[in-house]
Amino acid sequence: MLSNDQYVEKIGAECPNCHSENLSMGKMQTDADFAWMEVECLDCKALRNDVYNLVGYSSLMVKGKYTFVPEPGTSEKKNV
Ligand SMILES: [Zn+2]
Repeated sequence: MLSNDQYVEKIGAECPNCHSENLSMGKMQTDADFAWMEVECLDCKALRNDVYNLVGYSSLMVKGKYTFVPEPGTSEKKNV
């Protein structure tokens, strides 16, 4: 069984139960600051949710113009 850290290191590309890469991804669902996606292993039939955290935003477009495009994962100081 993969730990969460090992799982993230492998970017979720294998089944935490049997290590198969034969996976079926479901639809991404979101709630507030996180998202999840149901994934089924086609070999051992294990079901799991891959969980994603909000880390930032990118490509902000206002009235058809890009105004500020922060790199995802950087912590810019907010203008007060
Ligand atoms: Zn499996």
